[in-house]
Amino acid sequence: MAFNPLNWLLGFFSLDIGIDLGTANTLVNVRGKGIVINEPSWVVINKRTRQPLAVGAQAKEMVGRTPVDMLAVRPLRDGVISEFEITEAMLQYFIGKTHEQSIVPIPRPRVVIGIPSGCTEVEKRAVFDASMSAGARETYLIHEPKAAALGAGLPIAEIKGSMIVDIGGGTSEVAVMSMGGVVVDRSLRVAGDEMDEDIVQYIRNKYNLLIGERMAEKIKVQIGSAYPLPQELTMPARGRNLVTGLPEAIEVSSVEIREAISSSVQTIIDTIKDALDETPPEIIADLMESGVCLAGGGAMLKGLAERLTDELRIRVWVAEDPMTCVARGAGLVLEEGLDSLGHLLESLEGP
Ligand code: ADP
Ligand code: MG
Repeated sequence: MAFNPLNWLLGFFSLDIGIDLGTANTLVNVRGKGIVINEPSWVVINKRTRQPLAVGAQAKEMVGRTPVDMLAVRPLRDGVISEFEITEAMLQYFIGKTHEQSIVPIPRPRVVIGIPSGCTEVEKRAVFDASMSAGARETYLIHEPKAAALGAGLPIAEIKGSMIVDIGGGTSEVAVMSMGGVVVDRSLRVAGDEMDEDIVQYIRNKYNLLIGERMAEKIKVQIGSAYPLPQELTMPARGRNLVTGLPEAIEVSSVEIREAISSSVQTIIDTIKDALDETPPEIIADLMESGVCLAGGGAMLKGLAERLTDELRIRVWVAEDPMTCVARGAGLVLEEGLDSLGHLLESLEGP
């Protein structure tokens, strides 16, 4: 590319941003500053006008507590943009917030956004348009597993196989990559949210106690596991007794919670096995050396890496700071330059 002084100047003063538009959390990574925003992907809207009233952490705080004329939504719940306008408002809010943090007026940012690998053309276009109308000067899209792998420091551009498993809220993504391309990939809608629902169901069936989604998530994070723990744990679960209709607290153990989420965990394991089954033998040999990398919030489930290592007979390890991998990886594309990493980006069809 020819040297263009205007572009150079813009590049010098403007922000380069990597965004992880996750089903559970949205993270924004700004070049030179790191992760500046890490907030739940929740928006509270006015039910009648559909105008957003609160976004992010503030909106999640309101979940389950909204008056009748308000609605709390997760616009990306299943990994796709089901609520375009609300997603756009959310992006606008987060990009705007990043911009505000600068003292001097600066040109509009360049943005790289991670998208689920199962994304259709229409969904890609939706993310692109949302970013542009949210104030980006340039927008690039990258498949989340690639961004996650970059963020985790996997050598995906080399002539060598790498495998990443990204377990988020709505979706789990499994990808085997080599030479910057995807060799095998799988995406499934069983991830953290499903485990929360499992816990609600289990406690309801066993104790006639109805607990909220947020209580279930708390239980999963604190005592959930995929492998027997060196010391099993307990904690109180609070909800409403379905027989008496009154509030009640019971003590649940990590053994029970492991049983509650076991089928979701097994589904994820089976999907990874499936992907390995399709992986060419040379790459399997690479993986036996480098292992399988776990990213996303679900990677932090206690004992998951041990359980997987046991079942796959390949060493499974958790990326450093697994929840920020996608945002850091997306940011890296602009940091390292489009010349060297641009080939990892997704193209958009049409104008
Ligand atoms: P997404 O990319 O879909 O936004 P994240 O990567 O942010 O998702 O992960 C969010 C999921 O990770 C949620 O389901 C959350 O409950 C789960 N999670 C976060 N911390 C833990 C933990 N310590 N143990 C188990 N699950 C966790
Ligand atoms: Mg994610």
